[in-house]
Amino acid sequence: MFSQSESLWAEWHRKYSLNGISLWAVQESLSDSWAWKQILKLRPEGRNFIKPILGNGQKISFWFDSWTPLGQLIQFLGQAGPRQLQVQLHASGSAACSNTGWCIASPRSDEAMELHTFLTSIPCPVFAEATDSYVWTTSTCEEPRFNATKTWQDLRPRGPTLTASDLIWFKGGIPRNNFTMWVANADRLPTRARLASWGLQIPTQCCLCSISSETRDHLFLTCQFSMAVWRLSVTRLGEPNRLFCSWAELLSWIRGTSTAAPSILRKLVAQAAVYHLWKQRNNVLHNQIVLSPDAIFRLIDKELKNTINARSKRKQFLNLMSKWMS
Ligand SMILES: [Zn+2]
Repeated sequence: MFSQSESLWAEWHRKYSLNGISLWAVQESLSDSWAWKQILKLRPEGRNFIKPILGNGQKISFWFDSWTPLGQLIQFLGQAGPRQLQVQLHASGSAACSNTGWCIASPRSDEAMELHTFLTSIPCPVFAEATDSYVWTTSTCEEPRFNATKTWQDLRPRGPTLTASDLIWFKGGIPRNNFTMWVANADRLPTRARLASWGLQIPTQCCLCSISSETRDHLFLTCQFSMAVWRLSVTRLGEPNRLFCSWAELLSWIRGTSTAAPSILRKLVAQAAVYHLWKQRNNVLHNQIVLSPDAIFRLIDKELKNTINARSKRKQFLNLMSKWMS
């Protein structure tokens, strides 16, 4: 259905079963054939493998294809998204553009802001000559068509994976920090290395140091600038030599606990650091505002004090201020 197969079967379903609606959005109907119903049931698995490549935006479904690193926009922005952005539910990518650029209502939520930030970093489809295309992606390759062996490798049952959701969503957290941490944890923030992997012709150097490739782990953990911010933060938690080489190591540290640095304090500090580092990166990129690691740490420090103060009656936050200040 996506590979522009000219088979009669595909052509027939495109015309009668989809009729201009994305395969991801079309509803099952009583008159559908058994085979078509089975295909519709497999959509949640299929979605992980089909990656759209944005060209002129005429084929890609704005809301239902995962054409941005943020995933399916209808999931990311919710059912109110089409009304908020004033882009119709079944619009194509190009229908969200005018002759001069993207034509989307001003952002009114953190999620919409993330999308706007992403859109400013890519060429607008109205100026593109190539048509949209789709590739079949597995963890090991990208191909124009379905690959049964490699797909099975990705689908076969494995041991349980450790979920990080308890480290991200917790009582007393700051919603905007929870959100940035959640997107960062899924490695879906539009870092330059990630955008380049989507085929965008952009520089890949880190916005904070201009040296290494801007991957998530570099930007947040191993960049000289970020390491200076972490050093100041973990010193306050009594672990001056603690630095993180990988995202897994950061999660494992947050999960840990000690008298000087209980888990709740680690969560608050780590999320504030990730949020302010990402904000600083965007400030350098879009507003040419450059702050020092010390200035970023002062923002983190102030946020921690305000957060703990505002929640000082809660049991979990008892004595937290003295631990942070010591
Ligand atoms: Zn860097």
